[in-house]
Amino acid sequence: MPRSSKPKSKFIFFTGGVVSSLGKGIAASSLGMLLKARGFNVTIMKLDPYINVDPGTMNPFQHGEVYVTDDGAEADLDLGHYERFLDISMGKLNNSTTGQIYESVISRERAGDYLGGTVQVIPHITDEIKKRILAVASSEADWDVVIVEIGGTVGDIESQPFLEAIRQMGLEYGRRSVAYLHLTLVPYIPTSGEIKTKPTQHSVKALREIGIQPDALICRTGHRLTPELKRKIGMFCSVPANAVIEAIDAESIYEVPLNLEREGLTNIILKQFRLKCGRPDLTVWKETLERAQNPPSELDIAICGKYTGLHDAYKSIIEAFVHSGIVNEVKVNLRWVDSEFVTDNDIAEKLKGVSGVLIPGGFGDRGIEGKICAVRHVRENKIPFFGICLGLQCAVVEFARHIVGLNRANSSEFAPRTKFPVIDLMPEQKKLKKKGGTMRLGAQPCHIQPGSIAYRIYGQELISERHRHRYEFNNIYRKQFEKAGMHFGGLSPDHKLIEMIEIEDHPWFIGCQFHPELKSRFIKPHPLFREFVQAAIDYNKRNQVTE
Ligand code: GLN
Repeated sequence: MPRSSKPKSKFIFFTGGVVSSLGKGIAASSLGMLLKARGFNVTIMKLDPYINVDPGTMNPFQHGEVYVTDDGAEADLDLGHYERFLDISMGKLNNSTTGQIYESVISRERAGDYLGGTVQVIPHITDEIKKRILAVASSEADWDVVIVEIGGTVGDIESQPFLEAIRQMGLEYGRRSVAYLHLTLVPYIPTSGEIKTKPTQHSVKALREIGIQPDALICRTGHRLTPELKRKIGMFCSVPANAVIEAIDAESIYEVPLNLEREGLTNIILKQFRLKCGRPDLTVWKETLERAQNPPSELDIAICGKYTGLHDAYKSIIEAFVHSGIVNEVKVNLRWVDSEFVTDNDIAEKLKGVSGVLIPGGFGDRGIEGKICAVRHVRENKIPFFGICLGLQCAVVEFARHIVGLNRANSSEFAPRTKFPVIDLMPEQKKLKKKGGTMRLGAQPCHIQPGSIAYRIYGQELISERHRHRYEFNNIYRKQFEKAGMHFGGLSPDHKLIEMIEIEDHPWFIGCQFHPELKSRFIKPHPLFREFVQAAIDYNKRNQVTE
């Protein structure tokens, strides 16, 4: 790789050790938010060691939610945390996978760019990794700081090239421009009543074996770390005791930045980079958190979907409810209803006591009839309903069958030979054979119809929301539906695609073909979620819902 001039940005590399799921994404987002609060331009990227080109083709049961960016990337769910904490928009550049990196290198090899050479992990793969990190640094704004989260844990075979690439960057740009943070677990052993530092020591040893000396350690722990313990960890890991940062288990992920700030993490980084700045402005964040901690009331909202066993599959929806609960001063308890096991006979029981029902996005026919049965129940009983993507499609099918009178209407995704395909494949999708990255993806403009409920919620005519779908409302049924009382509050600007539905004579029955949950932020909840929760509060008051 030709040595490029030294980038203006500073780089913070986040690695993880001991076990996965320690919350590296949250820690990285928190540090990003803290630096942003001090006036720096900060962005974050994620490097994923798996060989899939993107998570778009993976089962949500394994990988969790597929996060979609404005520019149409199907990305890791950590990008959702980055957006929610930093209130910025991510894009394709912000997530690279081993699959993408090899794809680029191999296509260059086929084009003859390496004629005569042997293509190897070092330097070709590592150079491609560095190129992608530098591409983020010089993208759009001039980022002051680029935080890079490396997926997986130190010691994984797959993540070795990433670690080698970031090691090289430290060598090339020096400690004033590159910092390494390592997130580990400091477990408490109840039988001996002791906090154990050995896993952290081993994890740092593995990191140092490949030539990376962490500048600070972020220690996930359920118990406070005493100064002696910090000194011990620091001594074994060659890290100053004040750079051993306690990351105590928090009730809310939004507390983590404040905890890390209290531990002095940001100052350690700023000192290393010799960056000067004032005190952080965390007023709004703190106020929002305070409001979150003491909600005067609570209510139940059901999520009726098929991935209810893995809540990560609905990460952004869960967070959107947290944000909307805070502005509405209510604690939203989510009740998970597995649509595969819902029938006409037990739906009333399963939804008893809820003040609203949300049907999220999804693919495939498993659990579809259960969702349709849930829509019927909430429509007839005037319980607030919110359908997202597949949720809208289920609402359309239900309305077709029971109100429009199109017996056994369906989506052609689930019943290709249905007589009434009220939801059908979009025309441009019909010729596509490849599965990866071929859906209607990313931000699309949407025209909100004046006079609609959607307009009352958004308060503007032109909005932009993110999509991920192949199927759509079938326009040949538009008139019949409108006559029967379903209205289309949002349309694509050419009016060819129905983006939002609503019905008459119902307190709150809204469906959208896009994914509003992807744009909800901690300090800026999405209007659709905010209003849905408000409608649930009203329903609760009207009906004095009790268990
Ligand atoms: N399976 C449906 C489609 O492709 C819905 C997609 C979704 O909910 N994201 O249109």
